[in-house]
Amino acid sequence: MKYSQLFIQTFKETPVDAQIISHQLLHRAGFIQKSGAGLYNYSPLMVKVIQNAMTIIREELSKINALEVSLSLATPAELWKESNRWEELGDLMIQFKDRLDRDLCLSPTNEEAVVDYFRKVAKSYKQLPVNLFQINTKFRDEIRPRFGLMRAREFAMKDAYSFHVDKTCLDNTYTAMFDAYSRIFERMGLNVMAVEADGGAMADSGAKTHEFHVLADTGEDELIVCKEEGWAANSEMAQTKRPDITYNDLQGPIELVETKNNHTIQELSLFLNEKESHCLKSVVLKGKKEHKQAYIMACCLGDDEINISKCMKHSAITQLECANEDDLDTLGLTKGVVGPVKLDHKEIHIIIDSHVKEEASFIVGSNKKGFHIKNVTIKRDIATYQQADIRMAKAHDVSMNGNSIDLCRGIEVGHIFQLGDKYTKALKASVLDHHGKSLYPLMGCYGIGVGRAIAAVVEQLADENGIVWPKALAPFYIAIIPLKSKDEIIANAAQRLYEKAQGMGMNVIVDDRHVSPGFKFKDADLMGFPIQIIIGETFKEEESVEVRWRQSGKKEKVNMHDCLKKLKEERF
Ligand code: ATP
Ligand code: MG
Repeated sequence: MKYSQLFIQTFKETPVDAQIISHQLLHRAGFIQKSGAGLYNYSPLMVKVIQNAMTIIREELSKINALEVSLSLATPAELWKESNRWEELGDLMIQFKDRLDRDLCLSPTNEEAVVDYFRKVAKSYKQLPVNLFQINTKFRDEIRPRFGLMRAREFAMKDAYSFHVDKTCLDNTYTAMFDAYSRIFERMGLNVMAVEADGGAMADSGAKTHEFHVLADTGEDELIVCKEEGWAANSEMAQTKRPDITYNDLQGPIELVETKNNHTIQELSLFLNEKESHCLKSVVLKGKKEHKQAYIMACCLGDDEINISKCMKHSAITQLECANEDDLDTLGLTKGVVGPVKLDHKEIHIIIDSHVKEEASFIVGSNKKGFHIKNVTIKRDIATYQQADIRMAKAHDVSMNGNSIDLCRGIEVGHIFQLGDKYTKALKASVLDHHGKSLYPLMGCYGIGVGRAIAAVVEQLADENGIVWPKALAPFYIAIIPLKSKDEIIANAAQRLYEKAQGMGMNVIVDDRHVSPGFKFKDADLMGFPIQIIIGETFKEEESVEVRWRQSGKKEKVNMHDCLKKLKEERF
């Protein structure tokens, strides 16, 4: 490719909404162009990077006999209704009607669609196991699209779905996918960590799930790592404990105390001169259970935080979120003084975190404006409640065995998940087993965010001058930079070298523009080509060129006729 023919514009300025380095650089280097909130156009350079990533994915998945399919982006509502997800995923989906008034959506994921495909083909256990994958567009109407390709609304995903007659077979494919993911990310130049993730309701049946994370301060997920015990888990599900807590073990009759406008735990503890951990934090959450609105009051020690994912898991209430003031009104509760005492008549499920000692005394909200209650003992004063681990893990916690842990942030680039027979059962996708009996196959599902993984590569490798592509993803491996394109000898040498590189099957671009050397260097650095070959005055004197490595900054003077061969054979 000649730069003069590459229809690309680079920018000095960073868009105002680009908060993280990968978003800034992919825009500035002319790889992506915003077309709307969470929507991006890809330039010719970006298409090449995506194709390179797809090649890696395809090669690794075909090694483990996965078959590529392509399912339609628009999917009919009927499919989603069969699994009860038309409403559950309603806000995440773009739902629309066609000219015949039929409901459709742009697929945010494809479990239903792939099971529909499967049930139209599979009849017998003999056709199993099968692992179907695709790399295509997904649409999710994210609440907060941000960080460029990291959390887009429309994005390329590799999703795979496997079908099995038994758990051993599912486990085997799961392991093969785990290994394939490790190879895919390694080939992309990504340093990933496999992390135990939240399996939701499925986790209780022994189903495995792992997320692949790239460690980065800009990551949206919080991870807990215990080096001593060799595990890492998403804080959505990681169970840790506080090394020490002092409880108030003095029991007394419950007592209403005036606390005026002191609502937060900090205000309350200052006002009453009590430790924060002697107060109970009560949070009202709302969600859905069997299509109906359902409420939870989640309580933890005053200086802990409630983990909504854990509440979801322990209550089987989906789509949980914090209740708003209108919800509190409906429930007859008062903002700022919410508490779990005497709620028996209300339809609120109370969950108390396991760090809250049932026999200790706590100060809790009274549900009466301006007042709290002292000396509340969970065991004595709350009629019905569930106790479970629902707190967020935090710094200074230790593992359940008492070993130290680290908190870090990660970007989820991939996710593998054992689904069990949830979807095959819901969509009645059965096959006959070897006794001729009908069986719902077990499924695994496996996703990679292609754009997010590419953005993570930029995030992980970029430096102050721009993007640094690993060879396997680079849109061009070599950039030939003639310092003076108007100088015929230099321009001809560049052209000859370019043709030779192409002839050798090398992925090369020549910067044939009539612009200053500084301009060319800046752009080549910004765009992140791994190798630059610079042709300047020394070429005229001794036919030498300078080879420069983008990542290390290493430079070497080489005879022009040798340099390509040496690069090809990686002899530097
Ligand atoms: P997140 O927790 O970040 O919202 P998710 O767990 O909902 O992601 P999955 O359903 O597991 O996502 O999708 C598989 C993969 O698709 C993710 O691991 C991630 O790499 C990618 N992905 C998900 N949502 C987005 C998005 N909005 N933009 C870009 N990539 C995404
Ligand atoms: Mg996920």
